[in-house]
Amino acid sequence: MRIANLAGRAVLLVQDGAVDIHKASEGALDPDPGALFERWEEVRPLLVGLAGECVPYAERDLLAPVPSPRQIFAIGVNYEGHAEEAELAAPAVSGCPVTFTKFASCLTGPDSDVVLPPGMVDWEVELVAVIGRAAHRVPAEGAWAHVAGLTIGQDLTERITQWSGPTPQQFSLGKSYPGFGPLGPAVVTLEEFDDPGDLRIGCSVNGVTMQDASTSDMIFNVPELVARLSAIVPLLPGDLIFTGTPAGIGATRVPAVFLKNGDELVSHIEGIGTLRTTFGEG
Ligand code: ZN
Repeated sequence: MRIANLAGRAVLLVQDGAVDIHKASEGALDPDPGALFERWEEVRPLLVGLAGECVPYAERDLLAPVPSPRQIFAIGVNYEGHAEEAELAAPAVSGCPVTFTKFASCLTGPDSDVVLPPGMVDWEVELVAVIGRAAHRVPAEGAWAHVAGLTIGQDLTERITQWSGPTPQQFSLGKSYPGFGPLGPAVVTLEEFDDPGDLRIGCSVNGVTMQDASTSDMIFNVPELVARLSAIVPLLPGDLIFTGTPAGIGATRVPAVFLKNGDELVSHIEGIGTLRTTFGEG
């Protein structure tokens, strides 16, 4: 299933268009996409096989499929290649993943315009796991059962803010300007993937490939992240985990490259789709 947010209403994306979940369920399911994921365990069986009127839609009308999660976790340095380019020590798999948040107000849709704040704004394409079943102290074995589905996120980052101040650096603020969390186009449930742990991931700026990797290269994979995070913080249905970015960010290129007005950033993950983000002045 591909669950999306069409102009504020939860829909299933199908071959020829979108099916409104509230209407198709004759009112049994909430039209609010966020509410759907917060009650995922009750909702999922009702969604399976749901059929209804299918209407065409414009990509432009899709919004963040999980618009206001209660918690957003974001993971730093989770691919060896990115650890190398950033000259950071990769965490030991036996250790704790580098964790920060993106404040929820930064989330935006899969086809959006983002205002560039002053500074050095960079891209980070990331697989995002959406929690479907509450998780507290769950082992990695079986942790996929706590995941409702996967989507694409961009962890847009203003590097000057991120790196400012004494330690710890300002990761959460530098990654939370308005629009810095493009998300979508849909949350894709796990049975849609041959292997949800091995997906091609990448992004391009103005048609030039910047990142190209596989999610199988993660240091902490999705089940490990659910285990390590939930060892400390209870994960709630509808929470998001931005799972870290592969090599190819702009800041570590020689010379460094940052986003500028008029740029188009296209991010993709196999089996999920694409995000299209354009940048301009406020
Ligand atoms: Zn990131």
